[in-house]
Amino acid sequence: MLFLPYFCVMDRIRLHDRNFKLFISNEKIEEAVRKTALRLNHDYADGDIPVILSVLNGSFMFTASLMRHIDFLCELSFVKMASYCGTSSTGQVRQLIGVSDSLKGRRVIIVEDIVDTGRTITDMYALLQDMGVSDIRVCTLFLKPDAYKGCVRIDYHAMEIGNEFIVGYGLDYDQLGRQLQDIYIVE
Ligand code: 5GP
Ligand code: MG
Repeated sequence: MLFLPYFCVMDRIRLHDRNFKLFISNEKIEEAVRKTALRLNHDYADGDIPVILSVLNGSFMFTASLMRHIDFLCELSFVKMASYCGTSSTGQVRQLIGVSDSLKGRRVIIVEDIVDTGRTITDMYALLQDMGVSDIRVCTLFLKPDAYKGCVRIDYHAMEIGNEFIVGYGLDYDQLGRQLQDIYIVE
């Protein structure tokens, strides 16, 4: 049994078959999140009330922290991207679940944990465009610029990292490690 005490920072942790070492402190993350919220506060000070779409599961912690610093009126919905097999010609089809009210004509801010190749965000962007959303912006905690192959503009990113695999602060390794307050990198 591995205990993950919240009151002490561990240098190294083991999740499943992998070892991870401390990479980014919670303090640094919180400061980057606060700065990102300040940019949003500036850009959304006027205009129609936006809907924040927080993409589960990974972005729950980022969203909670970001929301504490946001000072403009906004709605919040937690959504999930689901994949299912389409016909042989369409292959994998992706669907957005959890959007209850119509987003037609609304301004949307997508809140993601991490943008890697950009496949997820590209699919989500296309689905929102099909719903008639009037303006879409992307806000991610982490961006991997060297891995990113998408065409969608990443409007806000709190931090950049290389092509490493990280866990913590909402991000998992095979469902473990999401509750870690700091970010750990695979060894
Ligand atoms: P993309 O579609 O941009 O290639 O990948 C996005 C998704 O892959 C993220 O939402 C996340 O679930 C997963 N992912 C990409 N890089 C990492 C990483 O370094 N750590 C973790 N835990 N997940 C990652
Ligand atoms: Mg994600």
